[in-house]
Amino acid sequence: MNDIELYKSILGVKQPWDVTNVKLDLLNKTVTIKVGYNQSQKLQCPVCDTNGSVYDHNTRRWRHLDTCQMTTIIECEVPRISCDEHGVKQVRVPWAETNSHFTALFEALVINWLKETSLSGVGNLLNLSWDQVAGIQERAVKRGLERREEKPLVNIAIDETSFQRRHEYVTVIYDKEHDAILEVLDDRKSATLEEWLKNRPQEHLDSIKTVSLDMWDPFILAIKNTVPAAMTKICFDRFHVAQHFGKALDKVRAQENRSFFNSGSESPLARTKHEWLRNSHRTDNRSRRDFMVLTRSTLKTARAWAIKETASKLWDFTYRGSAEKEWHHLLGWICRCRLDPVKKVGRMVKNYLWGIINAIIAKVSNAVAESKNARIQRIKKMACGFRNRKRFRMAILFHLGGLDLMPESLVNYA
Ligand SMILES: [Zn+2]
Repeated sequence: MNDIELYKSILGVKQPWDVTNVKLDLLNKTVTIKVGYNQSQKLQCPVCDTNGSVYDHNTRRWRHLDTCQMTTIIECEVPRISCDEHGVKQVRVPWAETNSHFTALFEALVINWLKETSLSGVGNLLNLSWDQVAGIQERAVKRGLERREEKPLVNIAIDETSFQRRHEYVTVIYDKEHDAILEVLDDRKSATLEEWLKNRPQEHLDSIKTVSLDMWDPFILAIKNTVPAAMTKICFDRFHVAQHFGKALDKVRAQENRSFFNSGSESPLARTKHEWLRNSHRTDNRSRRDFMVLTRSTLKTARAWAIKETASKLWDFTYRGSAEKEWHHLLGWICRCRLDPVKKVGRMVKNYLWGIINAIIAKVSNAVAESKNARIQRIKKMACGFRNRKRFRMAILFHLGGLDLMPESLVNYA
């Protein structure tokens, strides 16, 4: 088998395409494969598939998967044909997507590696620039979004998340039914979310059963303005409510710890931050004997902890009435607790109790919101931050969008 025959079978090119030459550059460890086409065969317009006549040629090069540990380039004089209806068009080649400088198989390799590591990691592995890898990722997301069929919304979650620097936020819209992030919006403003919702077909909004979110007025307003009977569908889920109680507890602990420090005495709270914040219905308290002694002390932090723990247990009710009664009981306790950060959360819970009760009755799961949040944090960590919102959106949709990312040509080619 000579090298032309070898590369013909490696590349799997079919009629009218054919390998015409293989050029080896040992110095640069590059092999260039020339592909030509059989001129006796008719070529089709890429838009309407009718036969057209060859107008001229364009020299194109694509990077392909390495062969024999050498950078492998496909080169072809791609014909442009003239179609009566669509004018002069470059014909489709089976090994690459239009406008890409990489073959479909190479893009597929990059896509698979991007799932495991960062853009710069893939760039280093394949000797590609950051922009080239980002371009492949962007095209993958773009074709995934184009292929995605819009489905009626049923149970969704809307959340803000920060990227890179603190206090810069985007809005993430998550479809719980299909376990996919639908969109990442540029900010966390009411108008932006409202516009996105308004662009859904009306029946896709009518089908909504629950929307889980944090107690955040701009989002609430946008939902009220677009989703029918929003006040019965908005759910402030357990995950977000627990976050607020956790933050208040941590403030109380930090203040109390500081006051021990300032008075010159040893603080029993030193190095206990994570113990207090731990989700205790998931852990075995018997192995935390020293910590449990602290929780029964007269510390302010112990009081804040008891309130946080109680709030985390008030989520299993079947009837609105009993749920409301227990939460009001807790709110009374909070009112008398003399812990300002906790009282602040208490006032918020009181104002938004209707949505908390909605979440309890609808049995909205917090596990999804929590795991989705953790996955976004992992993406952030892997990338060491993002240059801008656009890049952050691309990465989230790439990893969590549930999209079909692979190049179209791969199907014809395989
Ligand atoms: Zn045409």
